[in-house]
Amino acid sequence: MSKPAKSKIKVLVTGAAGRMGSNVVRTVAAQKDMCVVGAVDIARVGADAGEIAGAGAIGVLITDGLAATLRASRPDVVVDFTSAEGFEKRAAAALDNGARLVVGTTGIDAAVLKRIAAKAAKKQLGVIVAPNFAIGAVLMMKFAREAARYMPDIEIIELHHDQKADSPSGTAHYTAELIAAAKMGMPSRKDPTKIEKVKGCRGGAVGDVSVHSVRLPGFLAHQEIIFGGVGQTLTIRHDTTSRDSFMPGVALAVRKVIGMKTYVRGLENVV
Ligand code: NAD
Repeated sequence: MSKPAKSKIKVLVTGAAGRMGSNVVRTVAAQKDMCVVGAVDIARVGADAGEIAGAGAIGVLITDGLAATLRASRPDVVVDFTSAEGFEKRAAAALDNGARLVVGTTGIDAAVLKRIAAKAAKKQLGVIVAPNFAIGAVLMMKFAREAARYMPDIEIIELHHDQKADSPSGTAHYTAELIAAAKMGMPSRKDPTKIEKVKGCRGGAVGDVSVHSVRLPGFLAHQEIIFGGVGQTLTIRHDTTSRDSFMPGVALAVRKVIGMKTYVRGLENVV
């Protein structure tokens, strides 16, 4: 394991062998003010995390033992892009070892996040959970909140790659929550459907917003928010064409979380 300079932010990446985690390893390793001190995954154990990420060897080997790696590497921040399954245990272990958390993993139960928020407050350690780290997606959600105040009839179509485990996407769920708050109780029209010949074809309901999830090869991460009005529609759309889009947001969150003592959800609430 390479020795970090004292002033650098020490980062442990969980999910380091995955699509997002490996990108995070490459991004962190490229920053002047942070370094990768630990890499955990259940896949590619023993491989150099930098090599997996296409950044060349960094001397940090992937392990499958989070507790031992936390103790050995003593990270300032754990960045988690794994799976909702077992998340609470991983997050608690990080906080118990004095590390802050930056979480990109989606599909985590609200009750789990609530318990992690309480633990973060107790430990006085920052936690940032962002359903989407891309600036374009953050702006899409901001614009949607504005539009929802005037056009309350809204449906969301989110389109993702065919390996995505959770649906709807964290971004779609979060967007629907933000929209509900922005509408301040303004009702949507009643769904006219009386006969649903194919169950689910009207999408899943997050509050009173229908969300439709598309999973196909060829997509990465995309979302359309469609606002319907009398004689008009408004569509706000964001397209992720590369996972690089998430990386400035992740690096920003790592820098910000160092000075935080509580839990924050949504990148827009950090910047
Ligand atoms: P992926 O399957 O490519 O990577 C996940 C990695 O986590 C895998 O290498 C897997 O082996 C590992 N993993 C799973 N369970 C683990 C465990 N218990 N301990 C250690 N490692 C474990 O998936 P991905 O495309 O990289 O996405 C990861 C997560 O990030 C998903 O929840 C996805 O929805 C989310 N995501 C968030 C954003 C965002 O901006 N917040 C963007 C893209 C993806």
